[in-house]
Amino acid sequence: MANIINGKAISAAIRAELKQETEEFVQQHGFRPGLAVIIVGEDPASQVYVRNKHRACEEVGFYSEVWELPATTTQDELNALVDRLNGDPAIHGILCQLPLPSHLDENEIILRIDPKKDVDAFHPFNVGKIMIGDYSFLPCTPAGVMALLERSDIEIAGKECVVVGRSNIVGKPQAMLLLHAHGTVTVCHSRTKNLAEICRRADILIAAIGKADFFKGDMIKEGAVVIDVGMNRRADGSLTGDVDFASVEPKASYVTPVPGGVGPMTITMLMKNTLTAAKQSVM
Ligand code: NDP
Repeated sequence: MANIINGKAISAAIRAELKQETEEFVQQHGFRPGLAVIIVGEDPASQVYVRNKHRACEEVGFYSEVWELPATTTQDELNALVDRLNGDPAIHGILCQLPLPSHLDENEIILRIDPKKDVDAFHPFNVGKIMIGDYSFLPCTPAGVMALLERSDIEIAGKECVVVGRSNIVGKPQAMLLLHAHGTVTVCHSRTKNLAEICRRADILIAAIGKADFFKGDMIKEGAVVIDVGMNRRADGSLTGDVDFASVEPKASYVTPVPGGVGPMTITMLMKNTLTAAKQSVM
């Protein structure tokens, strides 16, 4: 029977710490950390994420702005908003909710956000800093995974870590953070041969492929730590991860549930990055 890592409780504890730190910051500097979230169009999932981010800002005591732009917004209009927020001293973090409607260029926006306000850590400047182990902003989901491991007292140094998924927002930065924590890291993807065999070597397995219940118990080493980043909707609308919890849980030593594992950590790490950005603005 595995220990279930309670991401909701860990996230709540970190938010309480951030709230305290924010109050100290406000007393010292006389202003609140500010986050601007831009959403273009009416994708319902994105709207939920944006609402949750706004609520999280209120919870930790940040100032926040939500810019809801119509799906017809042009690249020039979006660029102009980013430029304006880049120059706004009340805003320390800018996040543009992805995906954008297809006529807009996501890369142009990622490059346009001032790296000092890039609280998603998507700008190549920040990606490069992560590569060399100089972290101003940590990519939110991988940082959330690291916080779950740390707060569950799971040792990473010297461990076989297998990350399945190599996206720019999850898999690649996750591998880098584990490497900096002295894990021995293998990254797998859709062209990996003998995936199950590699997964069975893992002391720590990070599943981030976006395929419902893909990782079964027979792909897991006895006593492994299994972190499920996946968020998938079943046909009945319910949420499930990439890990088949029923067959993995009896073999693992630790496992994250979905929902209630990695999910709540991502926005908490965004709050942490925004506080960091505000602190750096007064350095
Ligand atoms: P992407 O679709 O960008 O990347 C998926 C990765 O998984 C790719 O590298 C792909 O390989 C690999 N992959 C797909 N199928 C297989 C397979 N059968 N075997 C091995 N590798 C495979 O997804 P993201 O990284 O953005 O997200 C991954 C999951 O995490 C999704 O479920 C997403 O919803 C969730 N997520 C959760 C977050 C949270 O807050 N909890 C935040 C962000 C994402 P290849 O590169 O070869 O195509």
